[in-house]
Amino acid sequence: MERKLILVGAGPGDPELITLRGIRALREAQVILYDALANALLLDYAQPDALKIFVGKRRNKAAYTQPEIHRLILHYTTHFGTVVRLKGGDPFVFGRGYEELDFARRQGIAVELVPGISSAIALPALLQIPLTLRGMAESFWVTTATMADGSLSTDLMLAARSTATVIILMGLHKITEIASLYLLLDKGNLPVAVVENGSLPGERVITGTMESIAGQVAGAAVQSPALIIAGSVVTLHAAWNAARETQSQTV
Ligand code: SAH
Repeated sequence: MERKLILVGAGPGDPELITLRGIRALREAQVILYDALANALLLDYAQPDALKIFVGKRRNKAAYTQPEIHRLILHYTTHFGTVVRLKGGDPFVFGRGYEELDFARRQGIAVELVPGISSAIALPALLQIPLTLRGMAESFWVTTATMADGSLSTDLMLAARSTATVIILMGLHKITEIASLYLLLDKGNLPVAVVENGSLPGERVITGTMESIAGQVAGAAVQSPALIIAGSVVTLHAAWNAARETQSQTV
């Protein structure tokens, strides 16, 4: 029996935002190991007798460790053949996809990678916020808030100094520190959007400035998963303008 691991990007949440190749992989799989951020509705594409195993990890709610997931990959490819590892967004964007690919290769398991639409790209697009725009943003960074040791990302400190649009993943719990960083750089007026449950039915979008955002996020009790978009391009979002208009009316 051929042992094969297919790492599949599930897209940002909305089940329509997976690729055709991803759906084909789901149809072929004997086993699907899926994450919390992969929409479980996608499992409907699997064969009825395929094994569907949740290996989700959420902050402070670790279900499976990475070595445990590797052991599952080894076990199920050995006994069942083709295993799909379904991950939120794109497997190679903060998805630990490469660790799993590397593990499988070392075990002599064939590996295929099916790219997914990362939340970093998809959620701004769905909100009609361009990541780049002539005269406004000539590049964008996709970064995490924290490094392995829990400290604020040093790349984020560089990104904050630039004029790039900055998209921060896994940053909600660090929003106060992120905002303070921008305030230190005298960028308290920089527009920022926080997207909770982007592309899903419970989606919420909060827009403000670096000065106001931490308070707004706390006030609205924003939960994970949430994406932070920082940069002038946020002013192009309809809600940002609506919020400014309401504010100026109440002044
Ligand atoms: N590989 C994934 C990212 C995994 S890291 C991708 O390419 O999208 C997990 C982080 O992604 C979350 O903490 C959050 O910042 C972001 N994220 C993923 N899906 C999201 C969603 N539907 N809404 C808001 N943020 C999301």
